[in-house]
Amino acid sequence: MSDSLLTFDGSGLPLAGVRALAQTGSTNADALMMAQLGAADGWLILAEEQTQGRGRFERRWVTRAGTALAFSLLLRPTEAEQAQLGRFVALGALAVQRALVELRLAAQIKWPNDVLVDGRKICGILVETLWQDGQAQAVVLGVGVNVLAESVPPAEELQFPATSVEDSLGQPVERAALLRSILTHIFAWRERMLEQGFWNAWQDSLAFRGQWVRVEGGQQPIVGALEGLNADGNLLLRLEDGSSAVVMVGDVHLRTFLDGR
Ligand code: ATP
Repeated sequence: MSDSLLTFDGSGLPLAGVRALAQTGSTNADALMMAQLGAADGWLILAEEQTQGRGRFERRWVTRAGTALAFSLLLRPTEAEQAQLGRFVALGALAVQRALVELRLAAQIKWPNDVLVDGRKICGILVETLWQDGQAQAVVLGVGVNVLAESVPPAEELQFPATSVEDSLGQPVERAALLRSILTHIFAWRERMLEQGFWNAWQDSLAFRGQWVRVEGGQQPIVGALEGLNADGNLLLRLEDGSSAVVMVGDVHLRTFLDGR
C-alpha cells in the first residue's frame, strides 16, 4: 500500500500552511530556512523521501520514499515557552506516543527523543532552534515515523533495533490519518506543555522504568535503575550504592541489558 501525502492539506488543524515535497534533503533544514525567511508559527513541511534526514548530533535518519512520515512543524515559541525549550522534544515524543496508543500499540518513550514499540525504535524526534541575538526565533519540531514495513532500515545501519507501525500492528495504516492524529496531539499538548502535568504524562509513558539501564556516551557509562524524570525532564537513575544520578540531555544513549548492545 502506498498512500500519497502530497495532497495532505491539513484542513481542520491550526496550521499556517503545508508544504508537501516528493523529495528533500531534510524537512528540518527546509523548515529552518523558512523560519529564517519569516514563516509563521504552524507551517508544516513534509516529504515523501529525505535524502539527508538527520538525527541528533548529525547522525543519519533514514526515510525511504513513500514508506514513512517525515515532517517538521515550524513553531514560534511564546515568551513562556522560550524559557522551556527543552520541552519541545518531549512534546513531539508524547504526541507520537499518544497517536500510536490510539492505534492500540503499546508505545513508550525512550528518553530523550525516541518512541518505541516492543523495545524497538519506531520514531525519532529532532528539535532544532533558530537563534537570533540570544533569543529563540523559531523551533523546528522534526518527526520521523516508520509506518510501512519497508521503512525500517537494515539492522547493520542501526545502533538500536527498529520497527514500523505495520510490523507492530500486523496491518498497514494510512499515513495521512496517522499524521493528522500526531499533529492533533501536538497542538493539544502544546497548550499544556508548561504545566507539571506534562512531565507526569511523559513519565507515565517512559520506557524501561524500574529496569536496569546503561547510559553511554558520557565520560563513563552510568548503570542504574531508571526511576523517572526530575522537574526539568532530566533522567533519574538509582545507582547500585543507593545514591541517585541525574542524567542531562546531551550526546548520551540509553541502553538496556536486553537488547544485547
Ligand atoms: P540511539 O537511538 O542510538 O539511542 P539517538 O536517540 O541519539 O541514539 P537519533 O539521533 O534520534 O538517535 O537517531 C539517529 C539514529 O537512529 C541513527 O544513528 C540510526 O541508528 C537510527 N535510525 C536511523 N534511521 C532510522 C529509522 N528509520 N528507524 C529507526 N532508527 C533509525
